[in-house]
Amino acid sequence: MQVISFDIDGTLEVGDPPGKISLAHVVDAIDKGFVVGSCSDRPLSYQRALWKEHGIQMKFTVLKQNLHEVRLKFPKHSYLHIGDTEVDEMMAKNAEFDFVHSIDDDVIDYLSKLGISGD
Ligand SMILES: [Mg+2]
Repeated sequence: MQVISFDIDGTLEVGDPPGKISLAHVVDAIDKGFVVGSCSDRPLSYQRALWKEHGIQMKFTVLKQNLHEVRLKFPKHSYLHIGDTEVDEMMAKNAEFDFVHSIDDDVIDYLSKLGISGD
């Protein structure tokens, strides 16, 4: 199974600035069995409060520099991080995650090819 790590700001609709990926996408990914979490510069307390506010059960919340810890928590998975900055790309590379850019790449199409929809 695949792990999907979502950056928040510039990536998700609840970010600042808002990104293209809706919370419906996040919920659908969870429903489809992906291991879903958030990976952001936002403090863990902020991330956890955000998911509690929206009633979404994330499997992990990590700071960007700790993305590699997700590999340890969920071994033998494949790994994807979606974010909007060069830092996201660098952290994904360092943690050996695939990377999709949430603005420059057609991330909605990418998610739909994984069977994840925002409807
Ligand atoms: Mg961001």
